[in-house]
Amino acid sequence: MSARIAAKLLVVGGGPGGYVAAIRAGQLGIDTVLVEAERLGGACLNRGCIPSKALIHAAARFHAMTETAEAGALGITLPQPPTLDLAATMRWKDGIVGRLNTGVAALLKKAGVRVVEGWAVFSDAKTCTVRGTGEPVTITADHVVLANGSEPVALPALPFGGAVISSTEALALQRLPKRLVVVGGGYIGLELGTAFRRLGAEVTVVEAQDRILPTYDEPLTEPVRRSLERMGVTVLTGARALGMAEGEETALTVRARDGEVRPLPADAVLVTVGRRPRLEGWGFERMAIDRDGPFVKVDDQCRTSMRNVWAIGDLVGEPMLAHKASAQGAMVAEIIAGHRRRFDPAAIPAVCFTEPEIVSVGLTAAQAADQGIETATGQFPFLANGRALSMDAGQDSGFVRTVARRDDGRLLGVQAVGMHISELSGAFVLALEMGATLEDIANTIHAHPTLGEAFHESTLKALGHGIHV
Ligand code: FAD
Ligand code: NAD
Repeated sequence: MSARIAAKLLVVGGGPGGYVAAIRAGQLGIDTVLVEAERLGGACLNRGCIPSKALIHAAARFHAMTETAEAGALGITLPQPPTLDLAATMRWKDGIVGRLNTGVAALLKKAGVRVVEGWAVFSDAKTCTVRGTGEPVTITADHVVLANGSEPVALPALPFGGAVISSTEALALQRLPKRLVVVGGGYIGLELGTAFRRLGAEVTVVEAQDRILPTYDEPLTEPVRRSLERMGVTVLTGARALGMAEGEETALTVRARDGEVRPLPADAVLVTVGRRPRLEGWGFERMAIDRDGPFVKVDDQCRTSMRNVWAIGDLVGEPMLAHKASAQGAMVAEIIAGHRRRFDPAAIPAVCFTEPEIVSVGLTAAQAADQGIETATGQFPFLANGRALSMDAGQDSGFVRTVARRDDGRLLGVQAVGMHISELSGAFVLALEMGATLEDIANTIHAHPTLGEAFHESTLKALGHGIHV
């Protein structure tokens, strides 16, 4: 016998998709139950966005202090290089995660959401049994939101275990690996690879494509490539990881671009070749729901092929980003409450927290050309931005590039690369969502001295009358 709960809405998964759906549903007066097997906040809060950004921050500070001790900077000298206690850094990072976990639990409670801890297994599309530490609970609901998220992809020749780790283990390391090999030069590989390099590890990145971060255009990634080179990260592009080498020393066997096969000694091999939707182990196959490739198929309201079963976040496809999951979650709650909503954003911002950071919102000029749209483009370098120079952030060839329709000046996309520019992503996406034109941005007074002036200047440049360039 198991306890039974009947609810109007059942949300499975307490990540940024599921917990936002549940809070919004609770706010709208919907009787809601949320099931989460691990800690609230999902991959993003517990082993993704937040811990990785905390580690990146700590690594940047350690690196700056190390450089200052070595060479002095800005008139500052340090008598000794700093020392690192990685276990203590991880405890500091865990403290941030813990505070946010508590916050999510409090927000769910405030919204009147019942949280059931345990792993949900569905017997049909509207019924699941949750097994946790207490007695099993069977939950039935009129509406079900699937927000089960994603998991790291393993390479067949490099299964996780021992020295071969995923981002989850990397974010919990207690000792710094002396030599770290990263397989996959995408988001996670480069964000964490940079952090571990700055903490003092020797880092090699093995990327199968011809260049790192292949989803961004080359001018955007070039400053990152140069920065990795300056930091002493070895980047092997066009290279394949073949498996762990046999022998006494732990090493990864790699086929380089020229065909040469050689071992790369490594204390840890971090595999970051993508993530895939988590569809196994919870009865998805019993729900009779259509798939779209590896993902759950949904329409523009996140409805699955089964009536009143909805799916959101990493489960339903690219981009696999926290803010997309949350936006879909809030939308589904509102549709269930009777609002008229569709998932049709003008753009979903993508930010890569490398050094320098990359932001991309909307279309590049090449993507617009593929759609037959003629564009006007304006690019402004941070080298000509007073704030960037005064923050010692103008030397990395960063820029803001604005792409607009040639006929009416309406913004189509904004791309940028530079230190600290993740915080500009809100301004870029707001401009696109509001349907702004080049003139709208050009006629908006931007505060001086700020990095945002580079956005302003890029629109002036596209209009043909840049002031500071
Ligand atoms: P998830 O966050 O994966 O949450 C799903 C939850 O469902 C999990 O907590 C899981 O335990 C639970 N669950 C699954 N099945 C069941 C079940 N049967 N019963 C009970 N519970 C279940 N995105 C960004 O936007 N910005 C970033 O900077 C960023 N950095 C990242 C860094 C790393 C290292 C990683 C790994 C990811 C990063 N991401 C980032 C991606 C981001 O974490 C995901 O896009 C986001 O977490 C997806 O949210 P979700 O709600 O769909 O799923
Ligand atoms: P990714 O898709 O960003 O990068 C994977 C990289 O691995 C690609 O460059 C690919 O060419 C390469 N690759 C694939 N197979 C390979 C092989 N056999 N050998 C060598 N290289 C190979 O994937 P990820 O870094 O694992 O991140 C997963 C997802 O998590 C991202 O797509 C993103 O949605 C999300 N994420 C976002 C952020 C952020 O928003 N800042 C940060 C981290 C993760």
